[in-house]
Amino acid sequence: MYKRLCAIAGEENASRHAKLDRLTTFRIGGEADYLVNVSSADVLGSILRLCRDEQVPVYVMGRGSNLVFDDAGFRGVVIRLCDSDECFRIVEEDNDTALIYAFAGAALTRLAIFAFEHGLSGLEFASGIPGSVGGGVVMDAGAYGGQLADCVVRSEYVRREPDYEAGVFDGEEQRFGYRTSVYQSGDYIVTGAYFRLRKGREKAEIGAEMRELNGRRRDKQPLEYPSAGSAFKRPLGDYAGRLIEASGLRGYRIGGAQVSEKHCGFIVNRGGATAADVRALVDAVREKVYADSGVLLEPEIKFVGERG
Ligand SMILES: Cc1cc2nc3c(=O)[nH]c(=O)nc-3n(C[C@H](O)[C@H](O)[C@H](O)COP(=O)(O)OP(=O)(O)OC[C@H]3O[C@@H](n4cnc5c(N)ncnc54)[C@H](O)[C@@H]3O)c2cc1C
Repeated sequence: MYKRLCAIAGEENASRHAKLDRLTTFRIGGEADYLVNVSSADVLGSILRLCRDEQVPVYVMGRGSNLVFDDAGFRGVVIRLCDSDECFRIVEEDNDTALIYAFAGAALTRLAIFAFEHGLSGLEFASGIPGSVGGGVVMDAGAYGGQLADCVVRSEYVRREPDYEAGVFDGEEQRFGYRTSVYQSGDYIVTGAYFRLRKGREKAEIGAEMRELNGRRRDKQPLEYPSAGSAFKRPLGDYAGRLIEASGLRGYRIGGAQVSEKHCGFIVNRGGATAADVRALVDAVREKVYADSGVLLEPEIKFVGERG
């Protein structure tokens, strides 16, 4: 298997016994049997077909900023979609807008900077989200009133069944909603997306808004500790952090996992946290908040088992 992965993706992009904690912002997870870094849709397709032919389980990740891998790791191939210099291009322009294509592995932060450099507005909100274009589309990532749904007009995918055929979803077919999209079913792998961005805003203003929003993040979020961002989705009409705080759980800790003292909506790794610690803490928080308020919090972070 390893030799075949190397033959398709290049030896420098494939490894065995890969440590998953190094690939996630939470710094949690055991080893994957195989890891392959992929920065093109063609290579992705070839690897998916190889794994299907060899009947080896596959897990596709982006920048690992919303993931908790199992302590036992992953028995199969983890495909990590990566950023590269060729990840973005402007595909068409008119007087008022431009359409940018981005490969799924492209970093959202880099895409936001690319847009800024070209004087294009619409991705200011995304400049501090540490995910990839693919992960962002799957989650409809958003912040400070903006979300990818506002500018992603088309996304490309390969569909797992029956045979990894390529396709596109346009506009409403993507079924974006709060932290969700058509891709949440897990039947598709996003390979790229098209962003419609606006011209006409002063570049200095775009940059100032990005700096201001990133400053707000630094003030409010516990960026000094590893985490996967907000641990829970926002419940209707309320905030997870407010409910968790009202239940007296600020700073509550199980093993190395802790409800952040700075922002109760975050679970942070205070050192040596395991996936089991995070799961136990998520369960404890949900139970207590439900008992106190009747609201059942839905986790936003994704747990990945040893077998997917
Ligand atoms: C400090 C911090 C701040 C954050 N702030 C925000 C925020 O403001 N707003 C927000 O929305 N999120 C935020 N997040 C969460 C996270 O960055 C987003 O959910 C992001 O969209 C995840 O992208 P990723 O590439 O890291 O996905 P991963 O964590 O790698 O994967 C997440 C899920 O998407 C799937 N996936 C990834 N790529 C693909 C693909 N190409 N095709 C199909 N499935 C795929 C994975 O299988 C997994 O189920 C934050 C996280 C951190 C650590």
